[in-house]
Amino acid sequence: MNKQDVLSDSPAAAERSEAVKQRVIFCDFDGTITENDNIIAIIKHFNPAGWEEIATDTIEQRMSIQEGVGKLFRLLPASMKEDVIRYSISNAVIRGGFRELLAYCQEEEIEFFVTSGGIDFFVYPLLEPFGIPQDHIYCNSADFSGDNIEILWPHTCDEHCPNGSCGMCKTAVIRQFSAERYERILIGDSVTDFEGAKLADQVYSRSHLTVKCRELGLPHHEFSTFHDVVDDLKERQQARKEGN
Ligand SMILES: [Mg+2]
Ligand SMILES: [Zn+2]
Repeated sequence: MNKQDVLSDSPAAAERSEAVKQRVIFCDFDGTITENDNIIAIIKHFNPAGWEEIATDTIEQRMSIQEGVGKLFRLLPASMKEDVIRYSISNAVIRGGFRELLAYCQEEEIEFFVTSGGIDFFVYPLLEPFGIPQDHIYCNSADFSGDNIEILWPHTCDEHCPNGSCGMCKTAVIRQFSAERYERILIGDSVTDFEGAKLADQVYSRSHLTVKCRELGLPHHEFSTFHDVVDDLKERQQARKEGN
């Protein structure tokens, strides 16, 4: 073992590197930034024949997210584009405290990424008022040029992803930020956030993600609004400064 290794293995060195770790947040969109799941809301509203079975198979993990979401949107004719977009945007409600969380991130120079399994035509317009740079928003996109709505997947799984068919792969995004340099923080609500939660240093969870974390003994902090998240981030930062 050379000198460098000895140094970096010492508890003091570990603490020092901990202290300079840059915080980065990966935040889910549907059911996290918005109060409800937009994809299910859209499909329920337009109610094309056969959607329920696909939705159930997807939710119960008999069908991958990528396959399920692709199939659900293929049930809708592309000619419904304007109606689908209008409905999805008007229906969504942003969860309380989101603006405050972004303000806190800006003050503290925490990088904030949206890692969403949602679709560009509702994710971008709904986030528009918040000034998040486009390259900090990961989501899927939609092609309306054929007969039916076709979902496109610009951010598929890398070779390390245990799922392999996420559609928008949250773990592939998280892995771009090394655990040595970054304190990786995940905010999410569903089973689709779980693999990412395993990689994260800190997890803020609600709903199904909380249940899953509990089942598998993964540390998590339950939240209901982003005010809860900001309060906890502040507390942790304070503790870190005091060297606890
Ligand atoms: Mg979600
Ligand atoms: Zn994946």
